[in-house]
Amino acid sequence: MSVPFLSFAAQHDPLREEIMAAIGQVYDSHYYVLGESVRQFEREYAAFSGVAHCVGVANGLDALHLALIALGVGEGDEVIVPSNTYIATWLAATFVGAVPVPVEPDAATYNLDPARLEAAITPRTKVIMPVHLYGQACDMTGILAVARKHGLAVVEDNAQAQGAAWQGQLTGSFGELNATSFYPGKNLGALGDAGGLTCQDAALAERVRTLRNYGSQQKYYNERIGYNSRLDELQAAVLRVKLPHLAAWTAERQRLAAEYDARLAGLPELILPRTAPGATHVYHLYVVRTARRDALQQHLAAAGIGTLIHYPVPPHRQQAYASLGYAEGAFPLAEELARTSLSLPLWPGMTPADLDAVCDAIRGFFH
Ligand SMILES: *Cc1c(COP(=O)(O)O)cnc(C)c1O
Repeated sequence: MSVPFLSFAAQHDPLREEIMAAIGQVYDSHYYVLGESVRQFEREYAAFSGVAHCVGVANGLDALHLALIALGVGEGDEVIVPSNTYIATWLAATFVGAVPVPVEPDAATYNLDPARLEAAITPRTKVIMPVHLYGQACDMTGILAVARKHGLAVVEDNAQAQGAAWQGQLTGSFGELNATSFYPGKNLGALGDAGGLTCQDAALAERVRTLRNYGSQQKYYNERIGYNSRLDELQAAVLRVKLPHLAAWTAERQRLAAEYDARLAGLPELILPRTAPGATHVYHLYVVRTARRDALQQHLAAAGIGTLIHYPVPPHRQQAYASLGYAEGAFPLAEELARTSLSLPLWPGMTPADLDAVCDAIRGFFH
């Protein structure tokens, strides 16, 4: 049998009629940009996240970018980012003319290590951008303590962790402005690109609303240099149908992860994901590590099992960031993760037989 890395069928098939009806409503409304669907979804996603405001934008990268503009980050500033993240986190800093300053993760959780933050802070540092990587909430107590002490803002990159919590508080509700992505493969995904920001502060929310819409609050009156980065009515309508199911999908991801934990335990060459006390993990990805990663991936592919590597090259070693001049070895933990990480199939609707096939193939490899 073959097991794909990801399948949307079990999530989308039961909702087909409801999603098509929601799309039909937008179609019939003849109103396609910044209408009722976006307003309603923003209200519902803010409530879900335990914040006062949500602002829908075109994608997760734009959400990160607009957050930094709204906070006044610019030329010559420094933004602290994880050394092991998707490149989007770094790009947002670069877009505003700031320098991304990488900090190595905690070796057990792969999330930003508060103990390493202070060494990276300079008089130019403006923002700390924690990423709740793979779906596990960062130690926000530690990160916020450092931020407060040094007068820095926090922008959470919550693209992978919708519904995760640190000490009972949801991710996306800690920072001054927080970004998320509704890219199809995320835990809450649209049928195309989409993203959002969450925050408690009405003035910051207003600033981002203006920035996403040409720097304008009143049509054809532009108060600042803005962008076109609006969440689409059609995508908002789809997200409204999916959001009420997110908690159940998360529970299912956690059940599947616990099953992997149990079935893959005791293999000396395989490191399983670990969740820190105080954090919840919503398993956007179930990432294992082994020194024989490439061989394991090939073995699984031969058995018809899809896997992916998140991420094969850390941002500091990407050609795009050659100008920063980081040599091999500059961030050894990020490089080690890039060499050893493998993401196993995991999606709501994955069957026990799917999971059996993956676990049997992995045990067969290490046997
Ligand atoms: C997906 C992702 C983004 C970017 O989201 P897009 O909607 O694809 O622009 C940013 N940060 C992280 C950690 C992500 O996983």
